[in-house]
Amino acid sequence: MFIIFSMDPELPDEIDCTKSTSRAKEWIGRLSLEKFKKHQNFYRMETDPALKVTIESRQGALTIEMSLYVVIELECQRCLCAFNMDVNKVGKYIGIETGADYKIGSQKDDNKETITLLEGKLSLVSLVEEEIFLEIPMIPKHFRDKDCQLIGSVEVTVKPKAERKPFADLARMIKNNN
Ligand SMILES: [Zn+2]
Repeated sequence: MFIIFSMDPELPDEIDCTKSTSRAKEWIGRLSLEKFKKHQNFYRMETDPALKVTIESRQGALTIEMSLYVVIELECQRCLCAFNMDVNKVGKYIGIETGADYKIGSQKDDNKETITLLEGKLSLVSLVEEEIFLEIPMIPKHFRDKDCQLIGSVEVTVKPKAERKPFADLARMIKNNN
């Protein structure tokens, strides 16, 4: 884990990758909270996202690595109380210019994701938003039952969900259409 202090420099919204050379370049700092407007009803950022971004041009491809640390606030879907979650991850990507002819598979060495650049620019804000979004559980809830207000106070009976049989439905639909 890496720690960024509040006096670390504020990073730009975008990094211009057209200037990158074969030497790896590194950016360390934070993105101001004010730059993030999306998903405000869905989660809230508690801290400025702290980043370490490394960009390197390797064999004609742009390899990007981003370490991200941010604390977000989510609403527990069981007790409807807010709780904090740490997002702490490292992502590796291949940067591709929009519309560029890039053959997926030519870099099958590892599990890098591809991200599109617009006129050689990498949007840090979008990348951070995307990474946070991927970390949010489908149904956010307190990690420990003892923190959950609902679990703590009331006995909760969990009803088994009605079993879904998508293929049975499909079969019925086909039958009805004939
Ligand atoms: Zn809860």
